[in-house]
Amino acid sequence: MKKLTGIAASPGIVIGRAYVIFDESFRILPRRIAEDEVDQEIERFDLAVSESKQEIFLIKEKFKERTNEPGLAEIFDAHVHLLEDPLVTAETIRRVREEKRNVEFIFSDNIKMIAEKFSSMEDEYLRQRLHDIQDVSRRVLGKLLRKEKRSLSKLDEKVILICHDLTPAETASMDRENVLAFATNIGGRTSHAAIMAKALEVPAVVGLQNVTEQVKNDDLIILDGIQGTLIVGPDEQCLNEYQIRRERFIESERLLSRLKDLPAQTLDGHMIRLAANIDLPEEVASAIGHGAQGVGLFRSEFLYLNRTVPPSEDEQAEAYGKVAELMSPNPVTIRTLDIGGDKLFGGSFRYRELNPFMGCRAIRFCLEHPEIFNPQLRAILRASVRGRVRLIFPMITSLSEFRHTKAILEQAKMDLKAKGIPFDPEIPVGIMIETPSAALIADILAREADFFSIGTNDLIQYSLAVDRVNERIAHLYQPTHPGILRMIKLVIDAANKGGISLSVCGEIAADLPLALVLVGLGVRDLSMSATAIPEVKKLIRSFSLKDLTGIVSRLPDLPTSEDVRDELRQAVTQLVPGYRDYEIFAGSRNENTSG
Ligand code: PEP
Ligand code: MG
Repeated sequence: MKKLTGIAASPGIVIGRAYVIFDESFRILPRRIAEDEVDQEIERFDLAVSESKQEIFLIKEKFKERTNEPGLAEIFDAHVHLLEDPLVTAETIRRVREEKRNVEFIFSDNIKMIAEKFSSMEDEYLRQRLHDIQDVSRRVLGKLLRKEKRSLSKLDEKVILICHDLTPAETASMDRENVLAFATNIGGRTSHAAIMAKALEVPAVVGLQNVTEQVKNDDLIILDGIQGTLIVGPDEQCLNEYQIRRERFIESERLLSRLKDLPAQTLDGHMIRLAANIDLPEEVASAIGHGAQGVGLFRSEFLYLNRTVPPSEDEQAEAYGKVAELMSPNPVTIRTLDIGGDKLFGGSFRYRELNPFMGCRAIRFCLEHPEIFNPQLRAILRASVRGRVRLIFPMITSLSEFRHTKAILEQAKMDLKAKGIPFDPEIPVGIMIETPSAALIADILAREADFFSIGTNDLIQYSLAVDRVNERIAHLYQPTHPGILRMIKLVIDAANKGGISLSVCGEIAADLPLALVLVGLGVRDLSMSATAIPEVKKLIRSFSLKDLTGIVSRLPDLPTSEDVRDELRQAVTQLVPGYRDYEIFAGSRNENTSG
């Protein structure tokens, strides 16, 4: 039995069998094959092996033309020999016949076992052969998967998925019936795959660093998405303990659901509005079910992922309009396309950047692509007559950028007017405050924006220069850094002074002690994953704002993040005695774990 610690990304406890995606360049999933498919499967394998040999031979010849170093060309002979080794080929064929599963799965599993043996060898030369094995297997798999590339959207069995990484698009499209939970090597608590997992209510642990090496296919594992741990090969006692914890978790969720129709009101009568962040229109039902008072952030880019052609204006107008209608009379804040960073398009817009979070992301991408931006703006405007729609622009860094964007919106309004298409001419237009520059000029922006929403996921990463998806520096991603608290306070004051509304829609809004800080600093609107709403509501209903403000107002003046945490811990225990310490800080582990 071993216990691995990572970052809690999506709550829940799951006990199940592991399915490990061995090589990240290929998504190889197990698939049962019928008896009469076996020969065909083996033929495919034979063909892939012989094509690979041919390819290696050609590379070797080319190589020989360019260098007269005979020893190096022999590496390629070694690759061919590997493909003739019965352990590699005959064993794969034997297992396909016996296990009746697809050949790419059996082959990669077989290679993994061979690689494991080699990696534990003392002999340096033999250990070096590991690279040859991996090289050769990639070549063969490339051929096998040429026509057979499968996606995570269809699995045969219920599994806990173990992989190096998941893109937000893969997370959004994964087979929810069969993926019970997932664990990854990399990623942070605010990476979009983690955010998506919460929305889908799939428990997840990310940033485990080498989980793909620590877990084997079919291992029995316990994934604890509350504590951020993974237990491999649990013993009887551990299994029993986690069964109990799992039941307790389900029971506490059930009790929380009773709060659905109660107001999020502090003991001294102050109302806090709790709204939901959604990625896809289908999540509205969950938002309503969890008592959301509106959609505080509709991440529209998820409509664009998993496809090569962007959704049409009509398709978008329908999607936004439906959400607005279902949520009415509560408001829906639709954010324009925030593509880039860890959310990438397929199709012709796919390009690589060395620093994607600092690159052509969000509003920058939209301003570069009017053929995508304009239809989206028109679609949001068209939806505005079907409910209370607000529009927000992501990643604004300057007033000029905001003005430029608003001018494009005005043009979209004129286009619709000319065609006689109805829209709300007074649609509120807001700014996501998620760059330090926007926070520092919030007073100026407040003169021309109708509302602000603080995107702390990005504000923290850009302010502290800590990549939000990098598990190696997750311990430096510190929402309690006094610099962050000061910046948030600055934005709250600017919004109050400018007479505009403000909400916080980053992940910290759902983090219990940090939600307290936000409310104590003056935030009255929080938006979060729908599933987090009941717990935050329970918290809000358990303290008095008067007591809280006194404590929280001192926090931005403390010297370090640790001081803030200590003070906060004390405050929570004092203000909300019903909570146990581990529960209160369960969501903040990013700050004290390095994975
Ligand atoms: C944020 O940055 O806090 C935010 C809500 O936007 P996203 O997580 O989509 O970048
Ligand atoms: Mg953001």
